[in-house]
Amino acid sequence: MYRYETHLHTAEGSACSDSTGAEMAEKYKAEGYDGIIVTDHFYNGNTAVDRSLPWKEWIAGYCLGYEHAKARGDEIGLDVFFGIEYGDGCSDFLVYGLDKQWYMEHDDIMQLDMKQFLILARSCGAYIIQAHPFREAPYINGTLHCPLLVDGVETVNASHRDPRFDERAKAYAQWYGLPATGGSDSHNTTSRYYGGGVLSPKRFTCAADYAKAVIAGGITIIDPADDR
Ligand SMILES: [Zn+2]
Ligand SMILES: [Zn+2]
Repeated sequence: MYRYETHLHTAEGSACSDSTGAEMAEKYKAEGYDGIIVTDHFYNGNTAVDRSLPWKEWIAGYCLGYEHAKARGDEIGLDVFFGIEYGDGCSDFLVYGLDKQWYMEHDDIMQLDMKQFLILARSCGAYIIQAHPFREAPYINGTLHCPLLVDGVETVNASHRDPRFDERAKAYAQWYGLPATGGSDSHNTTSRYYGGGVLSPKRFTCAADYAKAVIAGGITIIDPADDR
């Protein structure tokens, strides 16, 4: 089985992370993972990149965490894929399947509201996983859900350990018949190691492969309680 981490942050892209993309790649390789998907907080989330930059420069800075992780991953034998974590202050969405070029060209997406963005992204080939849908945190103003616009739900988030969050997320996914998946939401290599992510019998070639496997029921969620 191939082991993947599907939701992680880097210091280059996320203000709340303090490990570089290269360091995250090294950590996950050392922990036995075959691949990771870098999903830094986007422009509307806790980005580490100066929002006053022109859009293309902002995107270039935003993608550095992924690019540094990918470069190191290529050296050490870890597959590294690109995603984003889009957050509107209420809900967070992991967006897979679009690349740097797409974000560069779509310089008006921050004028869209959440629903408009999700519709546009999906129409361009994105897959959307709602991240930790019932987590509580000071920055979360409330929880908004749009089950008809997502492809799956992160029902196991390894770094937020209040069990009620995952229980609610599982109930939500079941209620709407949405596929379930898992991720660590790791922000650094220095705090407690959370484990988590998914196992797949097939190797992924891109982030969309992962999302398609979630939809097809082709992944096994790694329960962090069993993992370490
Ligand atoms: Zn964060
Ligand atoms: Zn996250």
